[in-house]
Amino acid sequence: MDTPYPTTATLPDWLDPTPWLEQSHTAADVRHALGTESPNEETLAALLSPAAAEFLEPMAARAQALTRRHFGRTVQLYVPLYLSSWCSGGCAYCGFASDRQTERHALDYTSVAKELDAIKAMGFEEVLLLTGERCPKADVDYLRDCVRIAAQKFHNVAIEVFPMAEEEYRILAEAGATSVTMYQETYHPETYDLMHRWGPKKDMLNRLEAPARALSGGLRFAGLGALLGLSDPQYDMLALYRHARHLQKTYWQAGLTISFPRIRNEVGGFDAPYPVDEKMLAQIIFAFRICLPDVPLVLSTREGAAFRDGMAGLGISKMSIASKTTVGGYGDAGSEEGQFDVSDARGLHEFCDMLRSKDLEPVFKNWDSTYR
Ligand code: SF4
Repeated sequence: MDTPYPTTATLPDWLDPTPWLEQSHTAADVRHALGTESPNEETLAALLSPAAAEFLEPMAARAQALTRRHFGRTVQLYVPLYLSSWCSGGCAYCGFASDRQTERHALDYTSVAKELDAIKAMGFEEVLLLTGERCPKADVDYLRDCVRIAAQKFHNVAIEVFPMAEEEYRILAEAGATSVTMYQETYHPETYDLMHRWGPKKDMLNRLEAPARALSGGLRFAGLGALLGLSDPQYDMLALYRHARHLQKTYWQAGLTISFPRIRNEVGGFDAPYPVDEKMLAQIIFAFRICLPDVPLVLSTREGAAFRDGMAGLGISKMSIASKTTVGGYGDAGSEEGQFDVSDARGLHEFCDMLRSKDLEPVFKNWDSTYR
């Protein structure tokens, strides 16, 4: 059957990571990377290499020192709110994919306000609003109205939704959205094509260029990431780094964040073809802190409590907590099945107590709505 969307894409030269994957790295390369003050692709490739797995302790020490230098002892907190589980997408790894037998929900505006009030009462000042692929139940008009409701209550309103045109991002920025999160899932074109079985998300380059369109449209921050487990992590992490550097050079006035989501269990029972264990995830986080020292690095409740506690302040400077991956769930409204399973199910107070016990300060607000 013909698809209206392009299939396997060709990566632009500014993104292609293959020149750095063709080299093998030694312990001497890793030591050199650990000492450099001018990190680049070569540094990251060395720190992601198998040779660096023996250097986790010095990598952690350098990552912690850089995190303290750029973020002090603070950890910024946010919480996600899923607005809708309706989706036309066919992502093989997602519990909201259109072939999953699950009840679909979308919050009406009254429920959105109630959910946001419940989140606000917990103490959060930053909320991340999520939907699936563009559909009639959750289109740009719906999102604009949800953003408006959220912007009356929160200083920082972030969106993690479908890729849009620059003009559509401008509408959301004018409604009060400040940040966009857009994970590329994988930068490997053949894998991307395989994992995104149908729908607009098959258009890999459209997704790749969405953060740039969002920043051109007036959003202040862009969050990038790749879904670890879909493809070779070294390939994806080098491409992610190149994507971030490209945006930093083009949109020098904008802020970036980088997240490290790993594939979690979901209703479809998808198995990660390239599983990433906690040791490798720690190596990736330390490597990014060393190579992008002033970019906030984010870790969500996909990860377990013990791992998150260890990473807080040790590279990671921003975390979600008390998260629901169901539609709603903070107030009265709430669906039963979520997009994926949460691993760290602690409440906000328990988590903040843990941070303080490590001499870290939970931060709820680092952006004021007057800057919108
Ligand atoms: S990842 Fe997003 S676009 Fe893909 S099926 Fe899930 S909700 Fe839809």
